[in-house]
Amino acid sequence: MSDSPAIITVAITGALPRKKDNPAVPVTPQEQIESTHEAYEAGASLVHIHVRNPDESPSSNPDLYGQVQEGVRKHCPDMIVQFSTGGRGRDQTARGAMLHLRPDMASLATGSVNFPASIYENPPDFVEGLARSMREFDIKPEIEVFDLAMLYNAANLAKKGLINGPLHVQFVLGIANALPARRSVFDFLRAELAAVLPDATWVAAGTGRFQWEVNQWCLEAGGHCRTGLEDNVKYDQNRLAASNAELVKKIADACGRYGRRVATPAEARALLGLRTPVTA
Ligand code: MG
Repeated sequence: MSDSPAIITVAITGALPRKKDNPAVPVTPQEQIESTHEAYEAGASLVHIHVRNPDESPSSNPDLYGQVQEGVRKHCPDMIVQFSTGGRGRDQTARGAMLHLRPDMASLATGSVNFPASIYENPPDFVEGLARSMREFDIKPEIEVFDLAMLYNAANLAKKGLINGPLHVQFVLGIANALPARRSVFDFLRAELAAVLPDATWVAAGTGRFQWEVNQWCLEAGGHCRTGLEDNVKYDQNRLAASNAELVKKIADACGRYGRRVATPAEARALLGLRTPVTA
């Protein structure tokens, strides 16, 4: 694994953080495109996108998704575009409403879980419906594992032919009421993934104050990394992150210490088995 490339995902906006939490959170499509471009120049090869209404509430508007995708494809050659199908603030019926825009990837949570103050509802028939839509539009899912059963559910979807392998799996650690950001949990999840889906690629996300710690675990263990203001608006305990790019740079600068290097967008596409992007 010496000098193996690390794909850096930047989750630029998310559903929750507001400008009042950190003025650097990009909200309008223009801000999102600029923030993505800076993160791309700092080493991010994959962007995870949520869009927002003008009042900063989460949006399902395909036009907004389309604008951001178009800008990213124009300014960030080869960068992997991933749309969120996440639930916060959106109806189930709207969560896949932009998949016809054919991003490279989309997130797919393969089960339900408690969040800090709500239930993240992903019933079996809904998950299968989203998986079918992604297959129809040639979109690679990123399997979001917020709780343990989701890993085995993903393997079952692959067995049923609803997801084409090899899978790309993200472990999400540190959300209250879901999986804790404990090293023992991280190690167990990786061992189970290797047993159940041996061909899968993987990344882990740590939320809030766990972001940087989980980034370092991933670099050490040969996985890929996710950062960004969606998960954490701070650079460290003492100050706010100046930008998404600053969080990406923190990982890029650390790669060498773990015998890793930053994956180029072309390398990231090859690692994830993605098609060549449609040029804008
Ligand atoms: Mg998200």
